[in-house]
Amino acid sequence: MSEHRKDTILLRGIGVSPGIVIGRAYVVDSRVPDTVKYCHIDESATDEEIKRFEQALNTSKEQLERIKSRLKEEGRGKEHIAIIDAYLMILGDQMLIDETKRLIKEKKMNAEWALKEVLRDIVELFDSMDDRYFKERSQDIEHIVDRIIMNLAGHKRTSITEIDEPSIIVAHELSPTDTAQMSRTKVLAFLTDVGGKTSHTAIMARSLEIPAVVGLEDVTRKVRTGDTVIVDGLTGAVIINPSKSVIDVYKRRSQRYEQYNRMLHHYKDMPAETLDGRRIRLLGNIEIAEEINSLLEHGAEGIGLYRSEFLYLNRKNLPTEEEHLAAYSYVARLMSPKPVVIRTLDLGGDKFIPMEPSAEINPAMGLRAIRFCFKRPDIFKTQLRAILRASKEGNIKIMFPMISGIEEIRRAKAYLEEAKEELKKEGKRFDPNIKVGVMIEVPSAALIADLLAKEVDFFSIGTNDLLQYSLAIDRVNEHVAYLYEPFHPAVLRMIKGVVDSARKYGIEVSVCGEMAGEIEHALIFIGLGIEQLSMNATSLLKVKRLIRSINYSDAREITEKVLEFSTAMEVEGFVASRLKEFYKEEFWSVY
Ligand code: PEP
Ligand code: MG
Repeated sequence: MSEHRKDTILLRGIGVSPGIVIGRAYVVDSRVPDTVKYCHIDESATDEEIKRFEQALNTSKEQLERIKSRLKEEGRGKEHIAIIDAYLMILGDQMLIDETKRLIKEKKMNAEWALKEVLRDIVELFDSMDDRYFKERSQDIEHIVDRIIMNLAGHKRTSITEIDEPSIIVAHELSPTDTAQMSRTKVLAFLTDVGGKTSHTAIMARSLEIPAVVGLEDVTRKVRTGDTVIVDGLTGAVIINPSKSVIDVYKRRSQRYEQYNRMLHHYKDMPAETLDGRRIRLLGNIEIAEEINSLLEHGAEGIGLYRSEFLYLNRKNLPTEEEHLAAYSYVARLMSPKPVVIRTLDLGGDKFIPMEPSAEINPAMGLRAIRFCFKRPDIFKTQLRAILRASKEGNIKIMFPMISGIEEIRRAKAYLEEAKEELKKEGKRFDPNIKVGVMIEVPSAALIADLLAKEVDFFSIGTNDLLQYSLAIDRVNEHVAYLYEPFHPAVLRMIKGVVDSARKYGIEVSVCGEMAGEIEHALIFIGLGIEQLSMNATSLLKVKRLIRSINYSDAREITEKVLEFSTAMEVEGFVASRLKEFYKEEFWSVY
């Protein structure tokens, strides 16, 4: 292998979670060589090949045992450990082992090929059974076969849970599940080849306050484990093997960033009120209950979006009604009397669980969210019952994602009524007047907001998907990230229409997409008359500072002007210039 160069390399990606970190890179190679080649083995070499296979089996076993003991040390739940146990059981499966060895010996094929052949037979067998349980098992087996093949190829299959010193994770791709497992003490920052600003991986990074840059295209090829790397999660700059003077520059920037955050903290207990007295409610978005502390530290006035699907990730079985109930009751009690909006399961898109594997070509437009729930009313009803039961513990509201038309909201509400009836019969208590809302995130819903307003108590505008679907840009695809234009006139018009309909029918409207947490966008939402914004914890104080620095009358005047522009660029330029009037020394101007 040629000696690794130590030249400085500057890369630019999409900064999705702010913060500056200088640290050691740790490359997680999660990609399995996707072309396993067939090789004929000489009769005399088959024993050697079988030995190679056995060694790879042992290495895989050792790796899994190591992960398992680490999970135990970290006090992770039984479910995580059960997954590893299931993998270990497959590794010991005699049929898998014997059949592979037989093919090596009798057919004289290399171990990788033999293993793939055995896998194909098993998957075919399980698939023909058309049973969810077996489909799930065949995914596990594929996972294990991949691990063995990596080990046969001499790759060390590295995983995030195997890190033992604080590092900057570098990966081709990280799923929201991977990200949810990250601990801030071990993961200083992460970098990925793929991804976009509003992918759930990016959202999770912001929630966990882990600086991140995505969409770097080939960072996994450019950086090696052990390299020193600077990550600037705000601008998207990544510097590999920086010189001492560059490190010094970034250390100073990092100090300025910390100072800025300390300054923001003064706003924590102040009301979010404009200079001319308009009160705005600032709420937080969470994925997992543990994020509540951070929300409270940042002065959240409630939870405007609880992405409940994260309860289903990182586990091997579906959560039971009691597990749902425990999670929701905990959140409701901790926040009470502040409101908690629980969004029902939004699986699909870029979030999947092994229990419900998907082979859709276009998952963002497929069986996602409410559509999945209608296909699996058993799963849906379990969740609805638990939300209702938890509603007696605090101020819970329920919200349905990805509603695209009137029939859908009526159908979702019918399931809710069914769940209420069941609970009544069982003598279980719940809030009978629980408020019901919808996410406005599909363009068709935005365009019939006046009709939808008659069916529900509140709207929450999901700008992440509203942009994805109205501008036709896959939110996880770095190649179209440049088209992510929150100020696109089409988006602004749609949002205005939704706000006007909500006002006309007297229902609440808020924004819970990522735009809500960015000051230039928040300014326009306020100008449109929106009184509630929900965002990740780290954006709350900077938005509060904006609110306390402006007049509502100015925001309205700016917004009126903005609605006349014909391109996003014009809007951006105009808003940026007006914002500078309110902030004399804003962070980004000295940065
Ligand atoms: C949205 O689409 O804007 C939203 C808030 O929901 P999610 O990001 O979970 O899709
Ligand atoms: Mg959405």
